[in-house]
Amino acid sequence: MSSPTKGNIFIISAASGTGKTTLVSRLLQSRSDIRVSVSHTTRAPRTGEEHGRHYYFVDAARFEALIREQAFLEHAKVFDNYYGTSFESINSLRDQGYDVILEIDIQGAEQVRRVLPDACSIFILPPSFQVLADRLTGRGTDSPEVINKRLSKARSEIEQAFSFDYIVVNNDLLEAEADLLAIIKAQRLKQSAQHAFIENLLAQP
Ligand code: 5GP
Repeated sequence: MSSPTKGNIFIISAASGTGKTTLVSRLLQSRSDIRVSVSHTTRAPRTGEEHGRHYYFVDAARFEALIREQAFLEHAKVFDNYYGTSFESINSLRDQGYDVILEIDIQGAEQVRRVLPDACSIFILPPSFQVLADRLTGRGTDSPEVINKRLSKARSEIEQAFSFDYIVVNNDLLEAEADLLAIIKAQRLKQSAQHAFIENLLAQP
């Protein structure tokens, strides 16, 4: 008897300000079979962020200890802070059959693709650089210095879009959400994602 079907892994990356977090939280609200992996980070919590829900907020010493213990599927330094996806944060969800979204940066996406070639990677693009600049400023969560840093990084991040499996342009939120759901559905229908089902079927008399 084969093991039950494990959930799929979806890597979702974007330049910051592209609406990735909004899109992912909408997906989670509308689909009970999709979960997001909670990352570890050394950055300070923003207003309203909770430990264990948005991130596991840890100090650099703890993060470095976790690196040494090989606790991370991937980790990267983003804007002077560490971010990482622990094996623990995804494995229990996958084993329960949930599809798991990794909302991570491009460096992390590359690492996950190397370790888990079946992971489906999606890059979200803004409709234009002007829209990206407006969104970053309007968000009001970061200092002008941080915003400038993010904007100058955006172009080089967007150049990496070529190495992702799917591209979603976030012009209209509803349309972008529908595009994401279509990708998730297509991934679930792939032959490679349905080995357990096929084997179970063949095992029947
Ligand atoms: P923020 O500080 O705005 O929450 O996230 C900054 C960037 O770090 C975003 O691009 C976000 O996707 C990325 N990020 C969040 N968690 C992880 C993670 O576990 N690994 C990697 N590589 N990047 C992450």
